[in-house]
Amino acid sequence: MRHIVVIGGGIVGLAVANELASRGDRVTVLEKEGRWGAHQTGHNSNVVHAGLYYKPGSLKATMSVAGNRSMVDFAHEHGVPVEVCGKLVVATSEEELPRLHALADRAEANGVPAKLISAAEARDHEPEVACVQALRVESTGIIDFPAVCQALVARLKDHDLRLHTPALAIRSRAGKVEVATPQDVVRADVLVNCAGLHSDRVAELAGLTPQARIVPFRGEYFELRRTELVRGLIYPVPDPTLPFLGVHLTRMLDGSVHCGPNAVLALRREGYRWRDVSPKDVLDVARFPGTWKLARKYARTGLEEVLRSFSRKRFAASLARLVPEVREDDLLPSGAGVRAQAMRPDGSLVDDFLVQGAPGQVHVLNAPSPAATGSLEIAKHVADLTRS
Ligand SMILES: Cc1cc2nc3c(=O)[nH]c(=O)nc-3n(C[C@H](O)[C@H](O)[C@H](O)COP(=O)(O)OP(=O)(O)OC[C@H]3O[C@@H](n4cnc5c(N)ncnc54)[C@H](O)[C@@H]3O)c2cc1C
Repeated sequence: MRHIVVIGGGIVGLAVANELASRGDRVTVLEKEGRWGAHQTGHNSNVVHAGLYYKPGSLKATMSVAGNRSMVDFAHEHGVPVEVCGKLVVATSEEELPRLHALADRAEANGVPAKLISAAEARDHEPEVACVQALRVESTGIIDFPAVCQALVARLKDHDLRLHTPALAIRSRAGKVEVATPQDVVRADVLVNCAGLHSDRVAELAGLTPQARIVPFRGEYFELRRTELVRGLIYPVPDPTLPFLGVHLTRMLDGSVHCGPNAVLALRREGYRWRDVSPKDVLDVARFPGTWKLARKYARTGLEEVLRSFSRKRFAASLARLVPEVREDDLLPSGAGVRAQAMRPDGSLVDDFLVQGAPGQVHVLNAPSPAATGSLEIAKHVADLTRS
């Protein structure tokens, strides 16, 4: 029986561990925090994406479409709260229509059922929405991703799952991989790196030169006081030149409505507030040549995002384009999440999921949204790679 050590107890690491265990491997999971899913997995929008945005044939497209189904099935089987409520992507001006139509074509290419509907039909779903046309996507859902992690942990009860256990050093020795933790050294046949915001650093610890570096982008949320303004999920038409979907309104399973997330450069990899600063992380980003190329490319958008981060009024104005009734005093500060987005030295952001292999090792180096949706599919892909 093979012994596999997985670094990172977010949804991807736990899904990989579960997949390997179901194929007969013995698994050790090392998580540095005191709870599972403590970072990206526990700070996101909790949306089961349908898979309409991503380039046809990409890992993101195939794994989110398949993951949408496998995640909902998993939730039903394990008593995890989930609701397939559908969503609206709304064009708020005539200029946005070509992009909305392109999105409808992409949904079709990805096999995602989606229908262009009129403004009046959109208001049947969302009475407060303002748009000229919308795309209705039925298979989008809302879920509790931390509860998915708990269900995965329960399935792994016969395996070695360790909280408060950072991987500090890694070396290969006599055909085995050794991972030093503060308590002991774990010896295994294969290493899987699912360390999210630290995945590039863990890859370096293992002697790999990662093809890309992690840049942390914080996404801040507000909660909508007047929840009656939103019934489900309302998204803008995304700008295809930007890596994120734009601030949106999401009804959560508990009935609250989350607004956001925006996207600002975080000054610490796990920095959930502006005052969370790590000189090491800032220097890392500043020294990477890609950062400066990225900054030049997105200078204007970046500045707007920073201004919006400090101005509730601007945040409300972005939301009011979708739902005009939203006002500044409707927004109550809520949490934030930090995305682990990989960037190449030329400043381009890695669009697709990125998994890099080496003898006895598999590294998940880019697993941003919709990786929580696609986690059970990413797990199958990674498990296959541990045998190649
Ligand atoms: C604001 C925001 C909104 C999002 N919305 C959605 C959404 O609605 N739907 C969706 O599908 N996706 C969404 N995502 C993306 C999704 O959250 C991530 O793709 C997913 O959670 C990635 O999981 P992960 O396991 O790779 O990373 P993480 O959850 O970050 O887990 C990595 C783990 O590795 C641990 N770790 C790191 N280094 C070490 C070490 N040296 N030793 C031991 N442990 C270590 C960390 O502590 C962490 O727990 C969103 C992300 C953000 C930030």
